[in-house]
Amino acid sequence: RTPAPPVLTAHTLHARYGGFTALDGIDLVVRAGQVTAVVGPNGAGKSTLFHCLAGTVRPARGQVRFGGRDITRLPAHARTRLGIARTFQQIAVFPSLTVAENVRVGAEQGRVAEPGSVERALRLFGLDGDVRSLPAARLPTGTLRRVELARAFAGSPRVLLLDEPAAGLDTAEVAALTVVLRALAAEGTALLVVEHDLDLVAGLADVVHVMSAGRIVSSGPPDRVLDAPGPQETPA
Ligand code: ADP
Ligand code: MG
Repeated sequence: RTPAPPVLTAHTLHARYGGFTALDGIDLVVRAGQVTAVVGPNGAGKSTLFHCLAGTVRPARGQVRFGGRDITRLPAHARTRLGIARTFQQIAVFPSLTVAENVRVGAEQGRVAEPGSVERALRLFGLDGDVRSLPAARLPTGTLRRVELARAFAGSPRVLLLDEPAAGLDTAEVAALTVVLRALAAEGTALLVVEHDLDLVAGLADVVHVMSAGRIVSSGPPDRVLDAPGPQETPA
């Protein structure tokens, strides 16, 4: 089987906060139709990597490429326009807008405003009932996560970057999320999931990269990587 085409790639990415090295030479390929996961302990550099790909942290060295084009110096909103959509580890929705209005903002900021993309995103994430007309301000976490995902997806992205999408979700919500994300990948969307919920990753990812101290220390399919002894399982 020929590997799916690379969509988003990182080449020897280095990132620093002052004198502290948060990313120490990361190489990563995110492929169309696949779920790529990045796991690792707190402080490993997962969110920093995510920010370098999304355009909210500028790497000190190395490159980010999208469809072969060097986008290392492109600001975040321009990346969104190209088709790189993201969610936030800390949920970020417009509280005074309704669910449907939040999703419409995503469609407008995205790659193309395809007709019906808002309705489709609402349906896909189970937001097409009465909840669509409610202000986002008072919704429970699980619903807000789905609003964020629907908003990111409504812009018809080529790549979806998800930082801890399972945070604050119960078991049933995590299971439902897995099904939807697998469906998006099956349609050809490239997904990158940064996550410390290893159960989600095991059921979702095609490829897992384990990060530790700013480096990728092992990579492979989840059954191999997550069962192997490594930095995840250092005895206390
Ligand atoms: P993870 O998402 O894997 O928990 P992060 O990328 O958030 O890791 O953080 C990696 C390291 O960089 C941590 O040691 C963290 O304290 C540090 N760090 C993250 N953001 C900043 C920042 N804005 N300023 C200084 N240090 C930071
Ligand atoms: Mg993080």
